[in-house]
Amino acid sequence: MPSRRLTKEEAAKADALLTTVRQMIADAAEGDPVLLFALRRRLFTRLMYWERGTPAERRKLQILKWRAQGGLCGLCGQAMEQKGAELDRTDPVLGYTAENTRLVHHACHREDQETKGFS
Ligand SMILES: [Zn+2]
Repeated sequence: MPSRRLTKEEAAKADALLTTVRQMIADAAEGDPVLLFALRRRLFTRLMYWERGTPAERRKLQILKWRAQGGLCGLCGQAMEQKGAELDRTDPVLGYTAENTRLVHHACHREDQETKGFS
């Protein structure tokens, strides 16, 4: 399942949500710029983890995939160091799961992303 772009109406709905959330965060900060910064950063991080999982979860998956693939890149098939290897999702919508990822060299990942028109 490929990811898709939002329709004009869906994008407007997302923008309206963002406006509401921004106002809620500003209200919660009560004029304190340092609290505003901290609240924004926490929400940003938590939303990112919602999509990508936590760093600890991704690290655990990387180790699992590295072992399952025998230390070989899921794209070029050559040996790779565990450190610096990256998880590549087959379907971005399905997230970082063992079934939906392969571990690849950073350079192979970049090249593959460029080929697919991402990045
Ligand atoms: Zn590779």
